[in-house]
Amino acid sequence: MPSVISTDVLIVGAGVAGLWLNARLRRQGFSTVLVESASLGGGQSVKSQGIIHGGAKYALHGALTGASEAIADMPRRWRQALSGDGELDLSGVRLLSEAHYLWSPGTLAGNLTSFFASKAVRGRVDQVKGEQLPEALQDKRFKGKVYRLAELVVDVPSLIARLAELAGDGLLAGQRIEPLRERDELVGLMVDDREIRAQRIVLSAGAGTADLLAALGLDQPAMQRRPLHMVLVKGPSLKPLYAHCLGGGPKPRITVTTHPAADGQWVWYLGGDIAEADGVARDSAAQIATAQKELGQLLPWIDLSTAQWATLRVDRAEPLQSGLTRPDNAFLAEQNRLLVGWPTKLALAPDFADRVIASLQRDGIVPSHPAPLPDLPKPPMGVPAWEQLLP
Ligand SMILES: Cc1cc2nc3c(=O)[nH]c(=O)nc-3n(C[C@H](O)[C@H](O)[C@H](O)COP(=O)(O)OP(=O)(O)OC[C@H]3O[C@@H](n4cnc5c(N)ncnc54)[C@H](O)[C@@H]3O)c2cc1C
Repeated sequence: MPSVISTDVLIVGAGVAGLWLNARLRRQGFSTVLVESASLGGGQSVKSQGIIHGGAKYALHGALTGASEAIADMPRRWRQALSGDGELDLSGVRLLSEAHYLWSPGTLAGNLTSFFASKAVRGRVDQVKGEQLPEALQDKRFKGKVYRLAELVVDVPSLIARLAELAGDGLLAGQRIEPLRERDELVGLMVDDREIRAQRIVLSAGAGTADLLAALGLDQPAMQRRPLHMVLVKGPSLKPLYAHCLGGGPKPRITVTTHPAADGQWVWYLGGDIAEADGVARDSAAQIATAQKELGQLLPWIDLSTAQWATLRVDRAEPLQSGLTRPDNAFLAEQNRLLVGWPTKLALAPDFADRVIASLQRDGIVPSHPAPLPDLPKPPMGVPAWEQLLP
């Protein structure tokens, strides 16, 4: 006899989207089960840079885009949650930086004019100098301008750990997922040998969502992957730096975030343009050589002679857009009991949860009085890229 569980909402995929949604639903009294086939946050989430964007990066295009509008409220909502006072209590989560910085190494006046004209950044950007500069830029050889953005950077592993705590007894390690249908209607999922019935089923499985849809006999909503080739640098001389370095184009030349390794050293994690198309085409050795050259030019006072280097290939998973352009908001599609989506950014996990909750409200789905779940096998925590790849 398979064991049978009934729940209000069954969520598949425990990255930041599934975990955040699960915690919000539980806080509102919904019963939930959250199934994960690999590790908590171990897909894109713990490989992300942890920047809680407010849209400033997108304003580099000069035009005020939908993204700038939709994302503008995210830093405030995250700040509230991190202070224990918001939609979730994330008070124990480590904040890596109170601000993310925008750093223009040369004279990029034209670019910055349109940037500062944009509504998305007006009143939320301050130039910093001298001792206010990020530590890694405090050198007399540093030239250029630095602006403090009202965006924060969170330590994603500690975020995932806290969201896993808030998941209570609802986490389930599960591999084999099949549809559970009654009279042609999807009423739940078979997860390994468990029958899980739910009023709503949410697929938030990141890059795994396309295969899950195929297993349910569906091909919509279509998904796209956008590959990245990130660079990791670890060394005793590194100091914290959280900044987009501008290169004159619509995307930052390099986006640097800094993460604490278990041995106490700092790891720089490099994304931005260097990790996009040309970077994806390079092999790991060529990508490291490119990063070494870039950092040598931009930060010649930092001694990288004993640093350790690695690269990481990872795809962003998002709803299909024409021409692989960046999606604007969290995305959710609905088909009867099935809800399918991608937050498209870590920062937009609250927006993803809002969309699911709005759908439940619209359909009159109210919290049942959850009974404790049986003891379920738990998925492990995802290991951050810098712990996997660097000694
Ligand atoms: C290198 C990089 C840097 C980034 N930096 C930032 C940033 O600084 N700021 C920002 O806002 N965004 C950033 N992003 C985007 C952000 O990481 C993602 O949008 C976000 O983490 C997606 O969360 P998710 O929960 O949808 O997906 P994921 O974190 O990928 O989680 C999906 C989960 O589903 C599980 N799963 C898959 N298939 C199945 C299945 N069949 N059954 C059960 N479980 C399954 C996976 O194992 C995984 O744990 C970055 C992305 C990348 C790749």
